[in-house]
Amino acid sequence: MKRTSLRRTSAEKSAKRKKDRELKRDLMTFFSKIWGQRPHRCEACGNPLGQESRTYHFDHLVEKSKHPDRAFDTNNIFLCCLVCHGKKTAGHPMPKHEQAILQYKEINNLI
Ligand SMILES: [Zn+2]
Repeated sequence: MKRTSLRRTSAEKSAKRKKDRELKRDLMTFFSKIWGQRPHRCEACGNPLGQESRTYHFDHLVEKSKHPDRAFDTNNIFLCCLVCHGKKTAGHPMPKHEQAILQYKEINNLI
């Protein structure tokens, strides 16, 4: 009995890892599409973001952990530099970032 339950747990873990990998891959595809559509500047402070996109350039205005259904909504993505992303994560977003969050929540009735 113990062996069976261990095996199932392991299978579940493996399935979760696979799901996580797929989500990460899909997010990368989604991000690279946005990278091709927008100017490579921080939408909060205006600093250039460089030639190559980094994962931290893409901020989910409303967290994908709380709103998984909005993980792939282009309007939920805010392009930003590492500094501005850090400020948002710390709970002190730059004014333009905060404005974008409020606007997104208002439009989508999340307030
Ligand atoms: Zn910035």
